[in-house]
Amino acid sequence: MYQNNLTFAKQCDQEDPLAHFRNQFLLPSDNKGNPLIYLCGNSLGLQPLQTQDYITAELKDWAKHGVEGHTDAKHPWLPYHEFLTNSMAKIVGAKPNEVVVMNTLTTNLHLMMVSFYQPTKTKYKIVVESDAFPSDKYAMESQLKFHGHDPKEGLILWQPREGEDLCRFQDLETIMESQGDKIALLMIGSTNYYSGQHFPLKKITELGHKYKCMVGFDLAHGAGNIQPNLHEVGADFAVWCTYKYLNSGPGSLGGCFVHERHANNEKLNRFAGWWGHNKDTRFNMRHEFDPLSGAEGWQLSNPPILSMAAIRSSLDVFEKAGFENIRNKSEKLTGYLEFLLDELDNNNINIITPRNKEERGCQLSIQLKNADKAFHTKLTKAGVISDWREPDVIRVAPAPLYNSFEDVFEFVQRLKKVL
Ligand SMILES: *Cc1c(COP(=O)(O)O)cnc(C)c1O
Repeated sequence: MYQNNLTFAKQCDQEDPLAHFRNQFLLPSDNKGNPLIYLCGNSLGLQPLQTQDYITAELKDWAKHGVEGHTDAKHPWLPYHEFLTNSMAKIVGAKPNEVVVMNTLTTNLHLMMVSFYQPTKTKYKIVVESDAFPSDKYAMESQLKFHGHDPKEGLILWQPREGEDLCRFQDLETIMESQGDKIALLMIGSTNYYSGQHFPLKKITELGHKYKCMVGFDLAHGAGNIQPNLHEVGADFAVWCTYKYLNSGPGSLGGCFVHERHANNEKLNRFAGWWGHNKDTRFNMRHEFDPLSGAEGWQLSNPPILSMAAIRSSLDVFEKAGFENIRNKSEKLTGYLEFLLDELDNNNINIITPRNKEERGCQLSIQLKNADKAFHTKLTKAGVISDWREPDVIRVAPAPLYNSFEDVFEFVQRLKKVL
C-alpha cells in the first residue's frame, strides 16, 4: 500500500487529518535558516507555538499579583497541578486519582521505590530489562545498597537471547519460575529506550503479582507515544517524563501513577512533604502528616508553575488532536519509514525494533553494521537530527504530531546519500 516516491508521501500528508498540527509547533532549522528533519522527539519533543503564551500568562500574573497569585491568578497556583490531572490520566489510561505531575523521573522512581520496594532478607531482588536506561539502573542499584543488599547480585537482568536484540516474555517467566520467591519488584521500561520494543504490560503485571512481587513501569518512552492503560493493566506504580513525546520542554516535570488499590494504603513507607498533606489543613502547619488520598499524597514540594504551564499547553494539544488519531497516524508514519528502509535493500541495515505494530511505538532503532559515530556526524551535517547509540545504532522517531510523511521520505533519501 506504500509507494517509494515523493508524490506518494505528499499525498499521504494531504490526506492526513492531523497534518495541520505541524504548524502549531516550532520546527528547528540550521544556522542558514534551512529547515532540519527533526526525528528526535523521543529525546526532546518540539515546542508547541502556544507554550510561550501559557508561560507568559503566569509571568504576568506573578508580576500583577505577587504571592496572591496562589489564589488570584487566572489559573491559581495552589491547585495548579490539578489542571493537568485529567488530561494526563487519559495519556496513561488511569483514573484521575491515580495520577500526579511532580518532580522529575528519576526522583519519582526513587520515591516510588521507597513505597513499593520493601525488601525482606529473603525476598529482595529486582528484575529489570537488560538494556534499561542507565539512570534507572543506578536508581535500582542504589536502592538495593540502601537496604543492605549487594546490587550486583540483587539486580536480575531480563536479557535478549544470544544473537537476538529483543527480550522474550517467555524468558521473564523462566526467571520468575526459578527465582520468584527471592524477587520483590519487577521494574520494567514499558517501551525500551534503545530497541524501541514495547512490552506486554498486562502479562508482565499478572506474572509479577502471581509471585507476590510489586510491578512498576518506566514510561519515559511510552507516555505520549503508546497509551499504556495503566489502571486496567493493574501496575502498582509508574513514572515518566514530559519532555520527550509530551513536548513540555527540557527538564520539565515528570508524571507518577499509583494504582487506586494503594490510594489509602497505610502499610506503605512514604517520604512525605507538605504538598502531599490534606489540602484543608496544609497551611495550619501544626498538624501531623495527613496524606492526601491517591497519587497526590506522594507530592513533596510546591511545584514550579512555569514548567507546569508548558505541560498544560502540551496536554491541550494532545486533547485537541485526540490520542487515538495520534496513534493511528503514528502506526502509518512509522510503517512508512519501515517500508522505505526495507526498500533500500541494504544488507548493512538492520531494524532491531519489532516489526509488529503492537510491540512498538513510533521509534525505529536502526543498526548500521560497520558504521561508527562519524556516520552519524555526516547524517547530522546532511540536516537530519537523529540520535546515535554506541556501538552502531541510530534511533529515529517520527512524532505524529509534527512530523510528516515527506519528512520520513526525505530522511531516507539523505540516509541513502550518506550510505
Ligand atoms: C529519559 C529517560 C530518563 C531520564 O530521567 P530524568 O530523571 O528525567 O533525567 C530516565 N529513564 C528513562 C527510561 C528515560 O528514557
